[in-house]
Amino acid sequence: MSKYWSATTKKLTPYVPGEQPKLTKLVKLNTNENPYPPSPRAVAAMQAELGTDGAALRLYPDPNADRLKEAVAAFFAAHGVTPAHVFVGNGSDEVLAHAFQGLLKHERPILFPDITYSFYPVYCGLYGVDYNQVALDGDFAIVADDYRQPSARKPGGIIFPNPNAPTGRLLPLAEVERIVAGNPDSVVVVDEAYIDFAGDDIPTAIALVAKYPNLLVVHTLSKSRSLAGLRVGYAVGQPELIEGLERVKNSFNSYPLDRLAISGAVAALEDVAHFDATRQAVIKSREALVAEMAKLGFETLPSAANFIFARHPQHDAGTLAAALRERSIIVRHFKSPRIEQFLRITIGTDEQCMALLAALREIL
Ligand SMILES: *Cc1c(COP(=O)(O)O)cnc(C)c1O
Repeated sequence: MSKYWSATTKKLTPYVPGEQPKLTKLVKLNTNENPYPPSPRAVAAMQAELGTDGAALRLYPDPNADRLKEAVAAFFAAHGVTPAHVFVGNGSDEVLAHAFQGLLKHERPILFPDITYSFYPVYCGLYGVDYNQVALDGDFAIVADDYRQPSARKPGGIIFPNPNAPTGRLLPLAEVERIVAGNPDSVVVVDEAYIDFAGDDIPTAIALVAKYPNLLVVHTLSKSRSLAGLRVGYAVGQPELIEGLERVKNSFNSYPLDRLAISGAVAALEDVAHFDATRQAVIKSREALVAEMAKLGFETLPSAANFIFARHPQHDAGTLAAALRERSIIVRHFKSPRIEQFLRITIGTDEQCMALLAALREIL
């Protein structure tokens, strides 16, 4: 605490990201990164942008990242998405931050699940947004009807991840639609960081954007496209919502995406074959890992993400996490009510999953 800090800064409770250890020998299953490399076409595009002397970096990037908006629109063209429906930012965390400030900050409290992405309350603190938490049911599922409010008590907005984090549970698209349709006066933000791992046909709420002016769907290239280090995220919504986000962005940072990020992200979105191959590999490993964990007595929530949320009826989660760490494997343990007996484990390569299982067998 310093006398030089503003009153706002003194009151902040910042987000604590999962550990990014400096040691390289660890099996890192704690922050939901993709274990496979990004598209080689993305790497080549970034190398081409850099050139031999890096001269392109003398110049500012395109402030609107038009090429990237076009690539996102092309990827979702079947849903009627055009560049005017797309907002891009420096990681989806930045896109979410602008949504909190620009679309969710209203007189009434916003709603989000009691167990969810822990950045949401942090943004509420930063931007002065009131919130109420809506409890997941006994099976850790979101209940759409719990978000229906009488019009006199309409929420300032609604946000939830789908699949939810850290549970991994998917809310079927029809239930997402019930929440959006049931709250026509509030913006509903669906944070789909993990939706690409939900199955062959991706049940994205982008399919509903043309129908609902109050829906904003947020995606990231950090998970399913293996580009967490590049920092690229985007939102898809009707042009009025996107315009609101552009107003906030252009009052904050005109150039959130650098030249390398724009070229790498465009090429990654165009490489559909690589995207499909890696997400299918992760899904396959997830199903195999869940089956093997069950043999060890673990109970795993049904996961549609690139991580699982599991507990062992006879073993304390904190003790297990510490024992794994001693064996150079890091997983995430949240010391929060209702979930303190769960471990969140990122799906690694099959080799990493095998190392995890071997360590668990030894510990148990
Ligand atoms: C990882 C994650 C994000 C942030 O992704 P970035 O694009 O890397 O900022 C957003 N929401 C949820 C639920 C996540 O798990």
